[in-house]
Amino acid sequence: EEEKGHNFIEEIIEEDLAAGKYSKIITRFPPEPNGYLHIGHASSICLNFGLTLKYPGHTNLRFDDTNPVTEETEYVESIKDDIRWLGFEWENEHYASDYFPQLYDFAVQLVKRGLAYVDDSTSEAIASMKGTPTEPGVNSPFRNRSSEENLDLLERMKNGEFPDGARTLRAKIDMAHPNMLMRDPILYRIKHAHHHRTGEAWCIYPMYDFAHGQSDSIETVTHSLCTMEFVPHRELYDWLIGRLEIYPSHQYEFARRNLNYTVTSKRKLLQLVNEKHVTGWDDPRMPTITGLRRRGYTPESIRDFCERIGIAKRENLIDVSLLEFCVREHLNKIAHRRMVVFDPLKVVVTNYPEGQVEMLPSEDNPEEEKVTYREMPFSRELYIEADDFMENPPKKYFRLAPGQMVRLKSAYIIRCDEVIKDESGKVTEVHCSYIPESRSGSDTSGINVKGTLHWVSIAHAVNAEIRLYDRLFRVEDPSSEEGDFKDYINPDSLQVVTNVYAEPSLLKSTFNDRYQFLRKGYFTLDKDTSEDRLVFNRTVTLKDTWAK
Ligand code: ATP
Ligand code: MG
Ligand code: MG
Repeated sequence: EEEKGHNFIEEIIEEDLAAGKYSKIITRFPPEPNGYLHIGHASSICLNFGLTLKYPGHTNLRFDDTNPVTEETEYVESIKDDIRWLGFEWENEHYASDYFPQLYDFAVQLVKRGLAYVDDSTSEAIASMKGTPTEPGVNSPFRNRSSEENLDLLERMKNGEFPDGARTLRAKIDMAHPNMLMRDPILYRIKHAHHHRTGEAWCIYPMYDFAHGQSDSIETVTHSLCTMEFVPHRELYDWLIGRLEIYPSHQYEFARRNLNYTVTSKRKLLQLVNEKHVTGWDDPRMPTITGLRRRGYTPESIRDFCERIGIAKRENLIDVSLLEFCVREHLNKIAHRRMVVFDPLKVVVTNYPEGQVEMLPSEDNPEEEKVTYREMPFSRELYIEADDFMENPPKKYFRLAPGQMVRLKSAYIIRCDEVIKDESGKVTEVHCSYIPESRSGSDTSGINVKGTLHWVSIAHAVNAEIRLYDRLFRVEDPSSEEGDFKDYINPDSLQVVTNVYAEPSLLKSTFNDRYQFLRKGYFTLDKDTSEDRLVFNRTVTLKDTWAK
């Protein structure tokens, strides 16, 4: 792995700047608006935007919207939202489709100079003439058309005279080229389809290879960063820019970042959404930016994660526990501590006056420089966690048990005096007495207890629903398993706990608040919250509890 904070792309840029090749650099983030962004994209965003924060220059957002069929405006909006939420702002917002007239013009130039031709071969015929990596391909019978004929046919392709697939425009390079992508690659295809921005204006669309490099060049992008699968495309990228004699952008490649126990491919994520394996792109189990956000991840934690994994030239699966480590680190610093009882057991404090309520200050976050407090109502009837009580405890059990004392966090020490059961022998409540001198912050009781429990006052508690998440897939790399990746979905990735009792201050929660529910993990309010029901998502547990 690369040394943190100084990767091979930064080395290239520093050399370029030092050599005076550029006075500022321009990068771009080029999503295809055919789905929501995922954690892999976050790594590319942090890289591209991070570079121009570190070095003079700027980053453009460019929608790579050359494929009319799969693209939607909803995706454009979500992508912009997600980038901003991650904390970045682009200099210019561009659309490859805005360059359609210019790209067409480039195609005309190539045709005029005998560097491109219209081919009437079917896609099957083109494929069959391609050759193999060890054997040269065969020239198309349409390869030697005159420029005039090619110009005429290209214009008629553009004017909609031919059906889908009838003709293509191909670069005239070399059918024996060792790089298969250089064997007369297709530059334009006919597709009578509605485009989300250009509508019906075009019925020919540029191929990725013809759109991408030329768009970079139009924007004078200096360092065009893409993932490793584009290494073989670089030769064509340079060929087109060279032949067109336009601004020489340069392509550099880095490895895709993939997380284990999930899939990072928009196409696969779309299947999960469409086939209702998840509730939507923003399902908190999804590795999408919007899913992570709803789950309670912070932009800081995702940026930290991307910085820690850095960039590399070889693909590998990143352990999701690193992502969780990053969010835990950040939430520990910023999350307000709250008390929530998941599985209640009633405690009656028999020596506490009936009807009396005391407001006890409890610190929001001991990690904060300036500690703030909220008030916890304390009264005679409380809930504690059922598994914080044992009638016949083993040795060294420091929670509540008959005759044993514990501290209620930010409140008093209580002692269990009596256990109340129903006919079946099930414990229904425990009766305790409190030590009045043991109040937190002014404890003069001299009693030392080892256990501290979270609690809520029954009369003041608010009802909530808690959603606990596990990995979305049962295997580390579902895409590499036999059969369909969806066969490996974890059926227990969501556990809903209802009838949870939360301290009343949580009624004021907003979607931006981050909480640590004491001893339970980190939580955030979910958008399914309604007037009469608070819903919280567990972002992550307090410790790494997943078995390795
Ligand atoms: P997907 O298969 O999810 O659709 P993609 O590469 O086709 O991925 P794009 O919208 O084209 O998605 O991606 C925009 C940018 O983000 C590209 O520069 C791409 O290289 C980068 N990117 C996409 N996925 C990853 C990933 N897993 N790791 C790092 N960068 C990625
Ligand atoms: Mg792509
Ligand atoms: Mg894609």
